[in-house]
Amino acid sequence: MSDVLIEARGLTKSFVQSAGFNLFGGRRAIRAVSDVDLVMRRGEAVGLIGESGSGKSTVGRLALGLLSPTAGVIRFADVDLATADAATMRGLRRRMQIIFQDPYSSLDPRRTVGDQIAEGLIIHGLGDAAARKARVAELLAHVGLSPEHASRYPAAFSGGQRQRIGIARALAIAPELLVADEPVSALDVSVQAQVLELLAHLRTELGLSLLFISHDLSAVRHLCDRIVVLYLGRVMEEGPTREVFANPRHPYTRALLSAMPTLSRADRRKREILKGDPPSPADPPSGCVFRTRCAHAVELCAKSAPPPVTVGPAHRAACILASPASGI
Ligand code: ADP
Ligand code: MG
Repeated sequence: MSDVLIEARGLTKSFVQSAGFNLFGGRRAIRAVSDVDLVMRRGEAVGLIGESGSGKSTVGRLALGLLSPTAGVIRFADVDLATADAATMRGLRRRMQIIFQDPYSSLDPRRTVGDQIAEGLIIHGLGDAAARKARVAELLAHVGLSPEHASRYPAAFSGGQRQRIGIARALAIAPELLVADEPVSALDVSVQAQVLELLAHLRTELGLSLLFISHDLSAVRHLCDRIVVLYLGRVMEEGPTREVFANPRHPYTRALLSAMPTLSRADRRKREILKGDPPSPADPPSGCVFRTRCAHAVELCAKSAPPPVTVGPAHRAACILASPASGI
């Protein structure tokens, strides 16, 4: 058995925007994800970061087979998700789960917490009623709640508790892969750390593979072994978390890191401020898509998209200035 759980090659997803989306009428295709290569090994936690609209959620949904690629391939446990038959897909669905950003809308207010946590067990025909009840109690304890909570309704819980319930529900079927799409962004800052701590704990305890989608770099630093930086649907940089934080090679990664509030005063003086908003993915700049916001862009950057260059062990950056010799 290969230790690769997810493998994306040239992964591309376009959406056709409806006329209502577009002031000038007509339909335009936008490339939400463009030519992404990604490998995630079993047990690994990979952080997917980038500004809003950079394609993070789309990559997550492609990895779960919830969307099919426009081009390229995405494999889960060596199975091409685009060509897998229904029975294979059903088997794979038992091995992957997602938790969402908003713990308020992701739970049904009219059903008890216990019923919702048990949902995956019922769908996949796992255990009888007694076994499910025991499993729900175990899961509630796992996420720091108590078994009595099973009979209550979501309204009885705070945002942080609801996210714990969402995590329990995702873990019910003992998945190998958990995609966490901005799982704490909707929570109070004071609760975010607790939920992240829970994810970190569960990950090591259960040996989960985690695709952690976030624009919060400190959360990614805390939780992830590797980091993949997306901009307008393209991978700008990827590498071991420690390495990327200590030695970011792409100007976009540098700018994101500069915006972190936890920087030391000395680091802050070297700040690279990211100006304005990203361009529309419907009309991306030629060449390097980041060049219009890049403080280091040169003429060549408008001509062709830079291929990723290796800048360290398992560390790559898609920038002509990324090699250590360039001195940026
Ligand atoms: P992120 O999660 O990084 O904020 P998304 O993956 O949600 O980014 O979106 C990437 C781009 O694709 C955005 O421009 C978004 O508007 C567009 N997009 C996402 N889903 C759809 C869809 N179903 N239809 C049309 N456009 C979409
Ligand atoms: Mg998103």
